[in-house]
This record gives sequence, structure tokens and C-alpha cells, in this order.
Amino acid sequence: MFKTVLILGHIRGIRIQLHISWVFILILLVASMSTGLHHQYPDWSLAVAGVTAVVTALLFFASILAHELGHSLVALRRGVPVESITLFIFGGVAQMERDPERAEDEFWIAIAGPAVSVVLALGFAALAQATAGWFEPIPVALGWLALINLIVAIFNLIPGFPLDGGRVFRAVVWKLTGNPRRAIEAAVWGGRIVAFLLFGVAFWNLVVIGNLVGGLWIMLIAWFLLTMAEGQGRMFDMRERLADVRARDLASPDPPCVRPETSIDAWIQRDVLPGGRRAFLVGTPERVRGLVSLSDSGKLPREQWATRRVDEIMTPAESLSWVAPDTRAEEVLRVMGERNLNQIPVMEASGRAIGWIDRQQLLRTIEMHMELQRQ
Ligand SMILES: [Zn+2]
Repeated sequence: MFKTVLILGHIRGIRIQLHISWVFILILLVASMSTGLHHQYPDWSLAVAGVTAVVTALLFFASILAHELGHSLVALRRGVPVESITLFIFGGVAQMERDPERAEDEFWIAIAGPAVSVVLALGFAALAQATAGWFEPIPVALGWLALINLIVAIFNLIPGFPLDGGRVFRAVVWKLTGNPRRAIEAAVWGGRIVAFLLFGVAFWNLVVIGNLVGGLWIMLIAWFLLTMAEGQGRMFDMRERLADVRARDLASPDPPCVRPETSIDAWIQRDVLPGGRRAFLVGTPERVRGLVSLSDSGKLPREQWATRRVDEIMTPAESLSWVAPDTRAEEVLRVMGERNLNQIPVMEASGRAIGWIDRQQLLRTIEMHMELQRQ
């Protein structure tokens, strides 16, 4: 399969990765910066301008990474797990496993990124001062990095979702009103207003100034911000509507079972192929011994399928993921997403399986729950 991200490594357990679109923006930035520098400083050779552009662009992306690490490290300290940081065409994004539960956490996590950018801006400005009079590309690059980090900080503080400023705004409204729903609505509205203002700026660039590339670029950013803001609003909406839905409401009863002594061949021929189901509980609902899915069959070579039993390739009950009947829908979604599960049994404390949640079925059921509650 075509991979869209490249994993660079891990910092404090956070996966650091590049999205494929990042390469595009790197090339664009280096190309425009090196021609710009060559024009502005005609006595620099093309090679000097080019090398300066590459080094500066890489330091710029390191600055974006530092900004995201700012959010992430504060999140970790406040008990919010961070999965990954991705650098992509519009900058960076830190993927947290869940939303902060308190307004204070939201506030400090959101403000940490712009704070890092401001510190970097001041640091690069000081270095630019200190190196004035050196080999010219050095102070020029440092000055540019100071300016761009300041712009990153200011742009991110615009009070609309999904920008950091939108999160700060949300945290403040949340703290003042004590109402997370009002807070999210305010931040989504902030995001919409920011996006429409940017559409206006893009239109101005395209029609009045005739700046085609700049105008299209701003329009793309505005569109991206608008989609993200609406998406955040919808996700919150979904969480709220699903608040009362539990695993038992989502489970289809009578999970398919196979006896442990069944041969792999018989199981595939008799159970899997005719019904089109890929996974089965091994044992009975009263006494689940494990779970076997079609992909487990790859653990043994095909010529052994006739003589080996399904319980030899199953995931045994001890290492099986399962949810309790009153687990909340959001939690079920999170567990299945995190462990990349296609199905999960719903088990009572006694160990009896009362049903089973299938990923495709789950998404359809959630859609129906949301539709019913809207009426
Ligand atoms: Zn940020």
C-alpha cells in the first residue's frame, strides 16, 4: 500500500512523522526563497542563495516541530496522552488521544505552542543581532526565522477553531460559563469568521491585486480552516448525542461461535466462506476461549489446515480485547480505533459474551442513533 506518512522517530513516546504533502511545501518554499534571496542580494551566488534557502527552510520546519512539541509536552504533563506529531502542508498537528477534560488543561496546552514560537522568534532575533557583520547569509537567515516564528505565533493566536487561539478562546468561554457546549460553539463560530475573512483576503488578492498564487494559497488555507472548524463542531455534537449509548445498545446478539476442536479447513469451508464473516468466537458465549479471524489462518501453512485446530491459531481469551455492556459508545470507538480492531466482544463480568460489535455495523448503528435523536 502507498504510505502517506514517513515516520522520523519518537520523542517521549510521541511518534514524529512527515506527511507526503510536506515534501511539496518544502520544494515550493526552497524554490521561492532561493530565487527571492538571489534577487534581493545580487552579489550572492546562486549556490549560496540555494544552500541558505535549504538550511533556513529546514530550521523553519524544526521550529514548527518545536511548536507542536510545546503543545505535546504540556499535554503529557497534564495527563493527556499524545499519539503523534505530523508535519504537513499547512504546518504541524499534534494528535492527542482525547480532548482535555478541564478548561485549564485546554488553555495551557493550547497556549504552549505559540509561547514556544515567541521564544524562538526572540532567540533567532538575538542571534541575528549577535551575528550582524558576519558572512551575510547567516544574519539574513536568522532574521527571517525570527520574523516567520513571530508570524506563526500571531497567526495561531487568531481566536477561531482549529487554531490555537480558538482553543484558548474555547477554554476561556468554558471557564467563564462552565458550559463546554457553549464554548465549542463560540470557538467554531470564531473559526468560521476567520475563514470567511481569509476568503475575503483571497478574493482581494485574486481580483483586485491580481496576485494569483498568493490568492489561491490563502483560499486553500481558508478552506482548510473552515473544514477543520466544522469537523470539530460535528465531532463534539456526535459525542454529546452518543453520551447515553452503551456497548449493549450497539452489540449484535448471538456472536458467531466455532468449537475449539474444529479444524482450520472445516472452519473456513463451513463457517467463513458461506456466511462471509471473517471472525468467530472460539468456544461458546458462556465460555469464550478466544477469537479467531481469517487473518489468523496465515499463522500456519495451508497444507496443515486440515489437521490443525482453530484454537491453535486463535487469540486466547486472556489477551483478547473486550468491552463491558455499559461501556460508552465513544470509548468503544476509541478502543477499536486505537487497537485497530474490526470486531470486539461485549462481555459480562462473569465472562459470558452477550454480543459482539463489528466495525462496519458499528458505524451504521451510530449513524442511525444520530438520525433518530435529531428527530
Ligand atoms: Zn499550535
